[in-house]
Amino acid sequence: MTETAAFSDSYTTARDRFVEAAQAAGGDVQRFVNPHAKGPSGATLSLDTVWFGPRDASAVLLNTSGTHGAEGYAGSAAQLDWVNGGGPASLPPGVAVLMVHAVNPFGFAWCLRGTENNVDLNRNWLDHTQPHPENPLYEQVHTLLCPKRIDEKAVRRLLNEGARLIAKHGQWALEDAISRGQYSHPDGFHYGGASLEWSTSTLKSIVKHDLASARQVAFVDWHTGPVGDGELIFLNFSPPRSVGRTQAEQWWGRDTLNAAHVDQLWGSKRPTRNGILFWGIEEALSTHATFAGAVVEFRSSSPKSNAADALRVSMLERWLRFEGGLDAPEAASYLAEIREDYAPNRESFRETVIGNARMTYTQTLAGLAAWRGADAAD
Ligand SMILES: [Zn+2]
Repeated sequence: MTETAAFSDSYTTARDRFVEAAQAAGGDVQRFVNPHAKGPSGATLSLDTVWFGPRDASAVLLNTSGTHGAEGYAGSAAQLDWVNGGGPASLPPGVAVLMVHAVNPFGFAWCLRGTENNVDLNRNWLDHTQPHPENPLYEQVHTLLCPKRIDEKAVRRLLNEGARLIAKHGQWALEDAISRGQYSHPDGFHYGGASLEWSTSTLKSIVKHDLASARQVAFVDWHTGPVGDGELIFLNFSPPRSVGRTQAEQWWGRDTLNAAHVDQLWGSKRPTRNGILFWGIEEALSTHATFAGAVVEFRSSSPKSNAADALRVSMLERWLRFEGGLDAPEAASYLAEIREDYAPNRESFRETVIGNARMTYTQTLAGLAAWRGADAAD
């Protein structure tokens, strides 16, 4: 299979190809249909899972795609390429793989980042009966980010007012307020929701059920976004010197996970995090398994000229959802722009994605097998 053959042009095609390949490779496939939303032309939306390897394996790689909807085109291609490339037949003894395709099928199908409720799934996995994390500065930028029309005037206002807020609060504080997640404006940026999304509760029950006998769980959550051409950024959320961190460093390299290195690739210091899948899954497994892994980003978007340019794709998504609608005259060109950031058509991007995905699967599965062996020897 050539590198780029695993890329699909739509969610439905990607999903069908994944399920067909998984079955052909002897995987145990399950479908979870989202009852709350449909795709373009009324398409059924589902999160699909496949299990490869022994059901009672102590070491399992959990590999997810499409947590951020449109970012799933690359993740889905990475998964399909591994399945079609003989991955399932070459698993180390005692190691299994649980692949989850399209955690957020609504976003994947419509080429948006959030769920059917405009929720960012990496801000949603919280106990919503408790007070939500606060983000008071977000209030001051909300209207700047959410114009009725995205035109010159809105951009000028965003840059001018944004500069005033940066002078007062600092650049990073403002970036953090915009992207850390907020729980006060359902029509705003990085909204974390008021309850668990269908995607979150479905994934949670899959983790609890399918990984009930696992002891060592590795996690790779494929994403895209930061400026680049398919190169990787590993975001690890385990405390320094924890088992999870130590394992991840052994598999992917200490320098790869180093915070200063990651910030440099990311383009700025990483924001505060709450409600991410990484911690939600770790918590769901905490009674019986140790957890190590990362959000792995394929860098995808083209360079940005200023803050308004960097925020543009998120503004377009929000405008399509709450101002113009997905059937607005602007929708086709706005969606194409969004897609070009998260899932570019460039051949160079696609080739690099697959090469890096293959390397990451190899490193992770070898590391997981070694981890299992070391635990068994204790
Ligand atoms: Zn993402």
